[in-house]
Amino acid sequence: MNILLINLPINTSYPPSVYPMGLGYLGAILIKKQCHVDVLDIRLNNYDQKFVLDYLKTHGAEYDLFAMSGMVTTYKYAKWLSSQIREYSKKAVICVGGSISTAGELILKNSETNIVCLGEGEKVISDLVDALHSNKSFECVANILFRDGNNIVQTKHEPPMDIDLIPMPAWGLFDMHRYASMSFMVPVKTPKITMLIERGCPFECTFCYRNFGRKMRCRSVDNIIEEIKIVIDRFGIGHIDFLDEIFNGNVKQVKELCSRIIAEKINITWRCIGRTNLLDKEILQLMFEAGCKWIGYGIESGSQEMLNKMNKKQKVADIEESIKLSRKAGMIVTGTFIIGMPGETETTIEDTRQFCIRNEIFNKPFFPIPYPGTLLYEYCRENNIITGDEKYILSLEKDIAELLVNLTEISDSRLVEIRNKLNDELSPKYPLWGH
Ligand code: SF4
Repeated sequence: MNILLINLPINTSYPPSVYPMGLGYLGAILIKKQCHVDVLDIRLNNYDQKFVLDYLKTHGAEYDLFAMSGMVTTYKYAKWLSSQIREYSKKAVICVGGSISTAGELILKNSETNIVCLGEGEKVISDLVDALHSNKSFECVANILFRDGNNIVQTKHEPPMDIDLIPMPAWGLFDMHRYASMSFMVPVKTPKITMLIERGCPFECTFCYRNFGRKMRCRSVDNIIEEIKIVIDRFGIGHIDFLDEIFNGNVKQVKELCSRIIAEKINITWRCIGRTNLLDKEILQLMFEAGCKWIGYGIESGSQEMLNKMNKKQKVADIEESIKLSRKAGMIVTGTFIIGMPGETETTIEDTRQFCIRNEIFNKPFFPIPYPGTLLYEYCRENNIITGDEKYILSLEKDIAELLVNLTEISDSRLVEIRNKLNDELSPKYPLWGH
């Protein structure tokens, strides 16, 4: 079976510095199943629509299955692309995965897409290939939405697979040397790569759609160490960005991983995203010794009232303590901030400003974006702030720096003015990479 994996472009000012790990895992599963796999990396190569059309004109008919992956912000592009694929490949199956699946019904109703993958894609793509091989209905593939005439069918739910059983990503499908040379979150000169040590997050912050569901599942330390050694050997990797939603969700796993990196003298630096109330002095020191030179915290606000409203389940005091302990351990600390969530006032924004000054930390704050699949999105629909229609989903392709929906009582112009003032006042003082 011939399969084309497509990395969709994202409309953002950020460069494409992270290889599409999700497609890498799918590629590995497909290769194991003896499929022929190609990749069209539109995001990395910045291919324009003409290039993509020429590719489809020349090669479109060769594929049995097209699998696109992207965020919900790629909805408009995915819609356009599926119609072009259908032009040149009448019978092929088109499926989408990634956070775009949160707008699954819309994309099935309004495009040529046949299947939306809900949750993790590895098992889905494997079952889908089996179903296509044996001419079975999509109904036998768990965890998908598919179009059946005018109906949208959701198939049975199956728990996700043991993530240790997923093969290592098929890096060979991507231009890894280019990806490894691009700088991502930290300014390191050595080749770098991204990795995950777990999937899922048990928390329920109102603005977050949690890529991998609520149940946290961890890879074994042996499996992670194996991946680290392979990428060092193959690509000369010297720095790893762990993109886990909460790197330190399983303290035992993190301690074991750090101890192994130290014991085996694995020479890397790394960065991760931590959750403040699960860290203490001992583990931070161990992490630093194992190469964790940067740690990012999803701080979001310096106002306890706003943290409670976002359901962060974090205390401002705990966050401040973790920043201090991380710096004491030797790490450079970064944080993300959101201003403009429901209930935000000029007073709560001032609390955040004071927090940044007090803790000498700042990162340009985001305005909240109600993505489908989040509690915030439900709130906005219930309160008629947004409708669940396609027009809203299409608007999500705007750059994340723009104010898409104002969820506060503050006027649009004032909110943008406050954000710009914070950027002007704090950016040069407390740069992203510490001081
Ligand atoms: S923001 Fe972080 S802690 Fe909150 S639900 Fe999302 S992944 Fe979990």
